[in-house]
Amino acid sequence: ALAARGVSKSFGRVRALAGVDIDIPAGQSVAIMGPSGSGKSTLLHCLAGILVPDSGEVHLGDVAVSGLPDARRSRLRREQLGFVFQDGQLLPELSARENVALALLLNGSSRGAALRTAGEWLERLGLSGAGDRRPGEMSGGQAQRVAIARAMVHSPAVVFADEPTGALDQATGHEVMQILTTTAAMAGTTLVVVTHDLQVAGWCSRLVELRDAMVHADRPLTGEPR
Ligand code: ATP
Ligand code: MG
Repeated sequence: ALAARGVSKSFGRVRALAGVDIDIPAGQSVAIMGPSGSGKSTLLHCLAGILVPDSGEVHLGDVAVSGLPDARRSRLRREQLGFVFQDGQLLPELSARENVALALLLNGSSRGAALRTAGEWLERLGLSGAGDRRPGEMSGGQAQRVAIARAMVHSPAVVFADEPTGALDQATGHEVMQILTTTAAMAGTTLVVVTHDLQVAGWCSRLVELRDAMVHADRPLTGEPR
C-alpha cells in the first residue's frame, strides 16, 4: 500500500499541500483531479519521493519513503517506481527499445537481457515493429506507449503518471489510458494518474479531488470509461 499521512508542502509563501491523507491499496488505480494550482503535481511528487514533504509522511509498504536519505530514496524510485509524463520524456537519441531497456540497465541488468525484455514489453503494447525507431519518428500515441513500457519494464510497485494524455487528441488519449490501466491491472501495479479530463479519470477505480491544497472529495469509480 502507498500512503500519505498529513502531508504538507510549501514553496515560499505558497502552500501547495496542506495536510493530505490518502491510502492507496496495492493494485488500485487512482485518478487525481482538481483545478490548476490545487496541488496535484506536488502530491504526485511527494508520493513518488521526488519531493520531501515539509511535514507528514509518505509510506510505501512498510518503508517511510519521506524519511529516507536522498540516495536511498533515489534507489527506491529507480527500483520500485515507474513514471509516465505528459510529453513522454523519452531520450530522443535512443531507439524505442533502448529507451525501455534503460530502466533495466540502471537496475543492473545485462544489455542483452535488458534489450530482450524491452522488446517483449514493446510487443505487449502493440509496438513490435517500432523498436528501432527513435521517439521523433513515432506518433504521440506510440511514444506514450513506449513511455508506458519504460515505466512498467522493471515491474515497479507503483506507476505515477502526470497528465499522460495531455498532449494527445481525445481518441488517442483514451487508447493510451486503456492500455495504461489494463497493463497495470494485469501486472498488479498500483497506478496514480493526474488528469484534467474526467473521461480519462474514468479508466481508474477511484477519484481523489484536490482543492486549495486539500482533499476535497474521494470516491470510487467503476473503472469503466463513461
Ligand atoms: P496544474 O493543473 O496547473 O498542473 P497542479 O494542481 O499540478 O496544477 P502544483 O504544480 O502542484 O499544481 O502547484 C501547486 C501550487 O504550488 C501552485 O500555486 C504552484 O504555483 C506552486 N508550486 C508548485 N511547484 C512549485 C515550485 N517548484 N516553486 C514554487 N511554487 C511551486
Ligand atoms: Mg500539475
